[in-house]
Amino acid sequence: MSLNIGKETWDVIIVGTGPSGACVARQMARQHKKVLLLEKGQADLSINIPRMLKNKEMMFIGKGKTLVRGIRTGGTSVLYYGTAYDPPAKLFAKFGIDLSSEVEELRSELPLGPLKDELIGPAAHKIRQSAVDLGLAWGKLDKFIYQDLCAPGHFPSEALWNANRYVSDAIESGAVLLTCSVVTRVIVNENQAIGVEATVQGEHHKIYASKIVLSAGGLGSAQILQASKINKAGEGFFCDPITIVQGLAEGIEAGKEIPMAAGMIFEEEGFVLTDLTLPKLVYQLFSVQALRPNRVWQHERTMGIMVKVRDGLGGSIKRGKVYKNFSEADKQRMQLGESKAREILLHAGAKRLYSTVWTSAHPGGSARIGEIVDSNLKSEYDNLYVCDCSVIPTAWGLPPTLTVLALAKRLAKHLLMMKS
Ligand SMILES: Cc1cc2nc3c(=O)[nH]c(=O)nc-3n(C[C@H](O)[C@H](O)[C@H](O)COP(=O)(O)OP(=O)(O)OC[C@H]3O[C@@H](n4cnc5c(N)ncnc54)[C@H](O)[C@@H]3O)c2cc1C
Repeated sequence: MSLNIGKETWDVIIVGTGPSGACVARQMARQHKKVLLLEKGQADLSINIPRMLKNKEMMFIGKGKTLVRGIRTGGTSVLYYGTAYDPPAKLFAKFGIDLSSEVEELRSELPLGPLKDELIGPAAHKIRQSAVDLGLAWGKLDKFIYQDLCAPGHFPSEALWNANRYVSDAIESGAVLLTCSVVTRVIVNENQAIGVEATVQGEHHKIYASKIVLSAGGLGSAQILQASKINKAGEGFFCDPITIVQGLAEGIEAGKEIPMAAGMIFEEEGFVLTDLTLPKLVYQLFSVQALRPNRVWQHERTMGIMVKVRDGLGGSIKRGKVYKNFSEADKQRMQLGESKAREILLHAGAKRLYSTVWTSAHPGGSARIGEIVDSNLKSEYDNLYVCDCSVIPTAWGLPPTLTVLALAKRLAKHLLMMKS
């Protein structure tokens, strides 16, 4: 390796290149800070199920339920559906956090907005019409999509913004990215974080920096904190379980549309519904998992509604093992969401409905603001910060990317204001 990483001292080491880590890195590098990004995975845009199982990007978290995350540059945003929800202002205000200016900045620099009508696919369109007929406030959702690159029925992968764009910006501004680099723990001296231990491309290293930001995601950061003797991290987390209610419809060609074009939050009931057309491979896997092999080849005729539930904090992330036992209340929320989704689909003309097995895509709340980090995202050790879904302070139930990007912008401002 040409770079002698052990001998350098960095202004900031950032662990993980998902939306949070990439955004902190970009902001810091643009202000001429010496930034090192350590990323466990490597560049990979594919959905390869056996490889995802092997890399623990897909895992079982108890009783047949799965969880998906990205271990690759760009993190989970490489796999996501690009839906944006504003951070809930009231929730963050309780912790003295106002993210409004950061959201405004993000809205001005990212391709954020609802889809043009002509880009809404036939299944999403039918579902929306049906929901509106039933008197529901089913509205278009903001998307992280370069819509100029899309056309009806044509949604190229490069049209979907992901965090690799921020990683590239950071590198252009001088940040160094090391992939295949697994951070195992933070080095602490007299309550001050001074560096990290990491296996970088197979070699063990101690790497030193003035500031350390853990952005290893809702599961990864808690594990590094535990290994650094912050033992309460990972005690209880949310993962926003989802099921997709799917039915067959006549006269539509649905397989290729942009997922999550429109939907509705049922705030009091604790769930969100949106249209959802799965990527074909994932659709086929879910059909098999749900013991519906006859549906494997029906992708183009399928209309689906995603039910995403706000589960309570529970379970644990300990020594690499992730376990979550969903409560009766979580199960009831899911049942309620499923029956609403069924009503909308039946009204839209869909037939032979079934629900996929539960999966989860947003682990978080494992290093909560107010418990493990303060409102500046600082841990009990000086110079050690956490910035990703793990700091979300309560049960959640919303797509979190815009929120973690805003938290990352806010953290970068805070770090840049500090004397190093
Ligand atoms: C199928 C799917 C669809 C989704 N759709 C949406 C959506 O529409 N809207 C939305 O807002 N969200 C969506 N999400 C969720 C969203 O992608 C994540 O919430 C978001 O990426 C979280 O960002 P993060 O920075 O907290 O963590 P991540 O993106 O998970 O990034 C963590 C990074 O840390 C790295 N890492 C982990 N451990 C270590 C270690 N020990 N050392 C070094 N590096 C490490 C990982 O490799 C990864 O790159 C979806 C997720 C999935 C799976």
